[in-house]
Amino acid sequence: MTDMQYNCPLTDDDPELLMNDHPREACGVFGVYGHAEAAKICYFGLYALQHRGQESAGIAASQNGIMNEHRDMGLVPDIFSMEQLGQLKGASSIGHVRYSTTGSSVLANAQPFVVRHHQKAYAVAHNGNFVNAHQLKAALEDQGSIFQSTMDSEIFLHLFVRNLKLGFDKALLEAASKLQGAYSMVVLTSRNEVIGIRDPNGFRPLCLGNMNGNWILSSESCALDLVQAEFVRELEPGEILIIDQNGPRSLFLDKPNRKSFCIFEFIYFARPDSTFMGRNVYQTRKDHGRTLARQASVKADLVMPFPDSGVYAALGYSEASGIPFEMGMIRNHYVGRTFIQPTQSMREFGVRVKLNPIKELLKGKDIIIVEDSIIRGTTAKTRVRALRDLGVKKVHLRVACPPHRFPCHYGIDFSTKGELIASRKSQKELAEFLELDSLHYLSLEGLLESTGVDNPDANFCKACFDGCYPVEFDNSISKDCLEI
Ligand code: SF4
Repeated sequence: MTDMQYNCPLTDDDPELLMNDHPREACGVFGVYGHAEAAKICYFGLYALQHRGQESAGIAASQNGIMNEHRDMGLVPDIFSMEQLGQLKGASSIGHVRYSTTGSSVLANAQPFVVRHHQKAYAVAHNGNFVNAHQLKAALEDQGSIFQSTMDSEIFLHLFVRNLKLGFDKALLEAASKLQGAYSMVVLTSRNEVIGIRDPNGFRPLCLGNMNGNWILSSESCALDLVQAEFVRELEPGEILIIDQNGPRSLFLDKPNRKSFCIFEFIYFARPDSTFMGRNVYQTRKDHGRTLARQASVKADLVMPFPDSGVYAALGYSEASGIPFEMGMIRNHYVGRTFIQPTQSMREFGVRVKLNPIKELLKGKDIIIVEDSIIRGTTAKTRVRALRDLGVKKVHLRVACPPHRFPCHYGIDFSTKGELIASRKSQKELAEFLELDSLHYLSLEGLLESTGVDNPDANFCKACFDGCYPVEFDNSISKDCLEI
């Protein structure tokens, strides 16, 4: 789900990036069919998906032709009270968590997005990015559509209701076939159907679970674990799964030649207790670290994450190299979103309030830092300098993925090449800039191989590493596609 007005690459002055150099645009979706307290189950599901979005959250529920929804800014536990959940009546429900992007932090863009049409209601919750959103929206507006939000997700509902005259199934197929790019969506109707839709490339995850005969849709399997649902399967790329009183049934969009699951889900986005393509994320990240140790070994006293996103790869690196693993930097977990961002002269404090190195462990040592990725390089320099100031002798940085040289157009918030430090600096230049003794990245081959999926070249999107985009994202979209 993307804000179509968002066109503001983050800069080194962005206060949030002082604290965190990781991408921020992903969302989580969840759906429940058949449970008497569907909204409450949805609430717990969203808890498990909170890591995918912390800006806003919402739940819609449907009963006897009536749909109610509640959305707000903030974290799941801050938004919903038991009383509010009690008002979201019905055995069908969908929910959404949204990640923060600069300039789009408004309630109008929180999801699920609900429309009412001919006495029926439809809601959508979306993870991803339609790359042809501007063209589709312009074509719809030319034909009289009035949009209520700046979200690309709204486009799907416009396309869907326009095609309802063809029948429900055909309307879903027609609407989804017009979309290009990355989308995993859950849709709720006031007839209580819950629908899961995954784009033909399968960029974003979406899985099906069963909870004592009730059906669950979720971005990640970790949320199925929380509600004690059994994992059934991942939705196929291009699958539209309709769940109603007869159970689930599938329609299929035309598939492209290859799947393009976002490999960054394995590297960073997903929770380590989730599983995709039969591979657990925790174990996969450790394997990335093991391969990195084989590809870029160096003598050192200890291996540490920086501070904790690279922890699983660092464990793998340590195991493969025999160098002890330590937690050399401690994160303050209580620095919330209300933290007063530091002025330029107090930047140093801004970083230290969140992270503090353990002097007694690090002083006089040669250390290997393992990071899962370096996107803009905004935090690494300050952190390395803090280690030098402590008296660390040598600092070697190992990154558990290849250099990010190309922007993502499929819903992740590095959308311009200029903001990616690896596109501006060679490995040698970056090592000098960060004042490192050595810097090595995991090779693309090593990443694919250690992900452990058969024929990885034919299964993953890795465009931010190699620039080979599985779906066109420029304006050269055929006119046929825009005939709505
Ligand atoms: S370009 Fe990178 S971040 Fe974007 S979908 Fe592809 S692999 Fe994921």
